[in-house]
Amino acid sequence: MSVPVRMDDGQVRVFTGWRVHHDITRGPAKGGIRFHPDLDLDEVMALAFAMTVKTAVLDLPFGGAKGGVRCDPTRMSLGELERLTRRFTWEILPLLGPDQDVPAPDVNTDGRVMAWLMDTISMARGERLSGSVTGKPLAVGGTAEHAGSTAAGIVTCVRATFGALGLPLAGARAVIQGFGKVGAPLAFLLHSAGMRVVAVADVAGAVHNPGGLDVAELARHVAATGSVAGFPEGEALRSGELWEVPAELAVPAALARAVDAEVARRLAARVVVEAANGPTLAEADPILHERGVVVVPDVVANGGGVTSSWFEWAQNRQGIAWEPGVAADRLDATMRRGFAEVWARAEHLGVSLRRAAHVVALERVAEAIRVRGLFP
Ligand code: NAD
Repeated sequence: MSVPVRMDDGQVRVFTGWRVHHDITRGPAKGGIRFHPDLDLDEVMALAFAMTVKTAVLDLPFGGAKGGVRCDPTRMSLGELERLTRRFTWEILPLLGPDQDVPAPDVNTDGRVMAWLMDTISMARGERLSGSVTGKPLAVGGTAEHAGSTAAGIVTCVRATFGALGLPLAGARAVIQGFGKVGAPLAFLLHSAGMRVVAVADVAGAVHNPGGLDVAELARHVAATGSVAGFPEGEALRSGELWEVPAELAVPAALARAVDAEVARRLAARVVVEAANGPTLAEADPILHERGVVVVPDVVANGGGVTSSWFEWAQNRQGIAWEPGVAADRLDATMRRGFAEVWARAEHLGVSLRRAAHVVALERVAEAIRVRGLFP
């Protein structure tokens, strides 16, 4: 749809936005809203499909969706961003609602944007619909657990993978690409789990310390300078060298398409857990498989975020906040169950975890379509 916005200089700019429902057989459409200058319909459709797979493989009562607006939010004022969000929400309003389609934050959107979505939906419908979006601020029905839930789910997958392979976690080395909303809390959690985070990269540079980086110091350095680059307690790396650093675990937690065929040939780690969406190119997958690298696919590994969205939505609808610890326990259990099913199916079929995840998910969707039958 077209999203006209009055800019601060008085001119009207017309942006393009999309909301894609891939599948709604198993529950309301679920998926993030992304603001990015390169966004296009193909990408939104692919991400919506990935959400169908993600919700089905973890057996969450949702379908798959994605949406967003092609815009550069870093060049917009707060007022422009709010007007863009509200007009976009208005344009897709017929699709939305707690039982129809429940958006969440994604690249360049956050709790503030979700609050504007929730308010616009609620004002238009004449009722306070807190369950119409997730990833909201606490003041309007968000949950404390949401922020770190993707990283927490990654750690559950790391533990499960190392356990299944009989690899000790304590002292094992990890490299992480990305030190943002996922990568930074993940570095802390891996460190707390007894691993050594030996290298971290972000958009501006990378650092390496074979003995393990001091994650708290690194976070302070990033808070002060904006990047891991120049961190004094480690050697500088060129970003591309990250994957060659000797380690047991590699976590792409930055961008899509980070692991191409060349990286796949050079990658030193035995285990890759995909925190980013779509970090591994199709050409890289068979190379990693041949080299015996175990890849936990994005649709399983980064499902902690949508699982915690499910808990937020459930609490909004119940009208009661769960006791502290309940959401964390349920998140861990949901991720462990999803991982175990995919691992078992991969062994049974003799295929990669990625293929097994798609088999489990698409079987679930197909079964739901079959038992619902054909209307009328
Ligand atoms: P973010 O914007 O907070 O952080 C991104 C990080 O990647 C930053 O540290 C940035 O410097 C780094 N980066 C960007 N380009 C890079 C490059 N070329 N080389 C090295 N590092 C680079 O984003 P985020 O929320 O942490 O999301 C990271 C990935 O995880 C994305 O693919 C996102 O789709 C996926 N994901 C996020 C969530 C979530 O809960 N935030 C949930 C599921 C999936």
